[in-house]
Amino acid sequence: MGFSEAEDCQGLLYRIEKLRLLRPVSQGVMEHALQHRERAGVQDFVLLEDYRSEAAFIDNLRKRFNENIIYTYIGNVLISVNPYKNLPIYTEEKAKLYYKKAFFEAPPHVFAIADNAYRSLVYEHREQCILISGESGSGKTEASKRVLEYIASRTNHLRNVETVKDKLLQSNPLLEAFGNAKTHRNDNSSRFGKYMDIQFNFEGAPEGGHILNYLLEKSRVVSQMSGERNFHIFYQLLAGASQDLLRQLKLQGRPEAYKYTTDMQSSVGQKASDAEQFRVVQEAMKVIEIGEAEQREMFHIVASVLHLGNVKFVQNDKGYAEILSHDANSGNVADLLKVDPTKLRESLTSRTIDARGDVVNTPLDLEQAQYARDALAKAIYDKHFSWLVSRLNASLAPKEKDPRASVIGILDIYGFEIFPKNSFEQFCINFCNEKLQQLFIQLTLRQEQEEYLREGIEWEPVDYFNNIVICDLIEARHKGIISILDDECLRPGDATDASFLDKLTQHLDGHKHFKSHRNLDSKTQKLMGRDEFCLVHYAGEVTYNVNTFLEKNNDLLFRDMQALMARSDNTIVGTCFKDSKLMSKKRPETAITQFKNSLNDLIKILSSKEPSYIRCIKPNDFKMPMQFDDKLVSHQVKYLGLMENLRVRRAGFAYRRTYEAFLERYKCLSAETWPNYRGEARDGVQCLVSVLNYEKEEYRMGNTKIFIRFPKTLFDTEDAYQLK
Ligand code: ADP
Ligand code: MG
Repeated sequence: MGFSEAEDCQGLLYRIEKLRLLRPVSQGVMEHALQHRERAGVQDFVLLEDYRSEAAFIDNLRKRFNENIIYTYIGNVLISVNPYKNLPIYTEEKAKLYYKKAFFEAPPHVFAIADNAYRSLVYEHREQCILISGESGSGKTEASKRVLEYIASRTNHLRNVETVKDKLLQSNPLLEAFGNAKTHRNDNSSRFGKYMDIQFNFEGAPEGGHILNYLLEKSRVVSQMSGERNFHIFYQLLAGASQDLLRQLKLQGRPEAYKYTTDMQSSVGQKASDAEQFRVVQEAMKVIEIGEAEQREMFHIVASVLHLGNVKFVQNDKGYAEILSHDANSGNVADLLKVDPTKLRESLTSRTIDARGDVVNTPLDLEQAQYARDALAKAIYDKHFSWLVSRLNASLAPKEKDPRASVIGILDIYGFEIFPKNSFEQFCINFCNEKLQQLFIQLTLRQEQEEYLREGIEWEPVDYFNNIVICDLIEARHKGIISILDDECLRPGDATDASFLDKLTQHLDGHKHFKSHRNLDSKTQKLMGRDEFCLVHYAGEVTYNVNTFLEKNNDLLFRDMQALMARSDNTIVGTCFKDSKLMSKKRPETAITQFKNSLNDLIKILSSKEPSYIRCIKPNDFKMPMQFDDKLVSHQVKYLGLMENLRVRRAGFAYRRTYEAFLERYKCLSAETWPNYRGEARDGVQCLVSVLNYEKEEYRMGNTKIFIRFPKTLFDTEDAYQLK
């Protein structure tokens, strides 16, 4: 029957007595199987005896983790625990195990998710999306890469797809160089959200792709927590560029020389790998067909940000900021970005304000000038990143328009965040997670109801928590949090973070999911500061500090800078700033409104597809293999809503298969169906079901499929098959 130690073979093992009835099983095989199950737990949580107990849930995850089994299902949702070491489970050979297999026919794996999505797309013409969630460092990006690799290998037999696949695969190192950074949680942390469509032609061959990016953490460009790094590309460029290139960029080759990359500690010992990675990036650029001239412009931009960070201001005798005349940095920036150096200095030290037609030039003080400088650095980097994504899209676009094309989308986006201190960024991210949870509810329920209807099976309503109230609390027109925040941002005069909080409290007082200092009882009041509010998210309570909410939401770049950059002769910078909505006289959309809109677009895209879910879990905070921290995992199980997920799953018919597929696989279990059943597949299945002694409550016969309530029943059958 063939299964290896490291593998999971649920195959063997439920009601042994029943198995014995079917066929005498040797004692050795049975013992081995039982031991294996004792050590490796169950491969699908729906099989847990006590499926309501979180302790049992975590126990099962831990058991498996200790056996190097990182994947487990909740029905068709894949749970993945980051092993922090390379396991031999992603080879071509392993991939083959999953070709055209149903979930329970092979150990749980990200390849199974990929294969199912691919088959549903190609053979059943249903567009797919794979949604990957989990906190930073839990393995989302790795999982998304494995999906891509699997699809690449799965389509190997198809012709003329090598270049497309190369480009799809090579888009990753490029995006990661510019969008990833070393953080405490993850050495290669994605600091942006990503949704990627892979487009297939009617034969199922990949023919192109498209990427959407969300919220790059641009504050990282100008400052990082101690021990963390700026985006990889800065260090890669400094470590890997040729002397010649460095000279052109006026760089000295050491990160310590630049204010934005000074954190020495975090760079120690990484120079070699940064240099190596720079070669990988250049190679990827070639594959993506980014030419030499374009590459040079990109590196000019990266270098200009480093120089910009070193621009120093002094206070002149009038108390305003000035740049010393011998300061080379601003000159370097102007050179690299091909803008007028005098104008650049001016825009860094003063701003023009258009007060109802009166244009006034006011000088900036030191603090304002530093703020302006950093705002410019962030804007340049952020816009360049978006440009890179559109540049990738241009290269990934299919050569011809294909009306028969269909896509599999992969979403790799930040999971729910609850930190000791939570700010505007966490608010955006958690809002995003509420929306995705809402989508999960809608899609799974819709999917279920539609299938029951199609199959003529009675729908049994399931009780679950619908988080739409929280989505509304955040995004409802006029009285949602976003709307109140935008109102404060647009209000001329004395709006502050504090006045924003006041308005929130005024409007949302009494809402079940909102708490502020004012509407807490005196005992709990002490736990919340006067500049905080708390949201009761579906995943738990999060307290947000309102400091800098207004500033971050306004996200303003002084108009002079904007105009100057739009005139840059670096074509990338010119394009980025010209396109910008900021150029128009109209007030630009606030950061949160832009985010909300792009999120709603994303939800629309995803709603039209059939979803698969991968939920990633981080086993410890130390990036260490073989360490499983129960408490940490328990938090994530809560935030990911896994217990609820399991409960809902258990409430219905957990498994279903077409009569043909069921019969084909299990016909060997009865003399009447073996080797071939002559009648209708449905009758054959009916016959099998009676031989296997399925009880009445255990299954339903739909129009085209058999529905099985307890996966255990199916596993018994699968066991019998495996032992045959
Ligand atoms: P996330 O995208 O969720 O923040 P990553 O996918 O970047 O996390 O994973 C963080 C690190 O954990 C990776 O750089 C890698 O070292 C390790 N890792 C994640 N998933 C796996 C896996 N399946 N096998 C081995 N190592 C992994
Ligand atoms: Mg990531």
